[in-house]
Amino acid sequence: MPVAVELRRIVYTAEQLQARVREIAADISGAYTAEDRLLMIGILKGSFVFLADLVRQMTVPLDVDFVIASSYGAGKASTGEVRLLYDVAAPLEGRAVVLVEDIVDSGTTLRSLVPKLRARGPASLEICALLHKRTIELDPRWVGFDAPNEFLVGYGLDLAEHFRHLPYVASL
Ligand code: 5GP
Ligand code: MG
Repeated sequence: MPVAVELRRIVYTAEQLQARVREIAADISGAYTAEDRLLMIGILKGSFVFLADLVRQMTVPLDVDFVIASSYGAGKASTGEVRLLYDVAAPLEGRAVVLVEDIVDSGTTLRSLVPKLRARGPASLEICALLHKRTIELDPRWVGFDAPNEFLVGYGLDLAEHFRHLPYVASL
């Protein structure tokens, strides 16, 4: 079904994204060794394109898993709690974990998710976000770009499930 929505402008081209992803992949690869048993956890669905490109540029041994986080219903939304619809199967104990997010906006998702994962005793837990709107104080170890405070789609980001497949990021 076609969407009657116009993309206003391309914010990050496919080439810009690929270049930045290569840099981050090199940074992360340099921060770990095989002994860290690195586990990259993508937050679905938005991170799937970024994570797929990222891990293919990485040179340190790693495993990949995902979580699906869902906000509670409207009544409980103010608590900022998220529920896990799918959770990582492997134990995190003693492992280096990098949580991969598409975009940080209010930070609600990460603020809820991080303590849940930390409770499982990973040796370390870092955040890698492709985009950061800088509307809140949350400082991931790796950030791709400081994003404009506009609604963005593409490269995993959706509007009602559309546009995730675009190889670039655009604003509506
Ligand atoms: P937060 O929990 O930080 O408020 O929100 C993070 C999530 O909100 C992201 O993972 C993403 O799913 C969604 N989000 C935030 N900003 C945007 C945006 O500009 N475009 C899209 N498509 N999703 C966004
Ligand atoms: Mg998301």
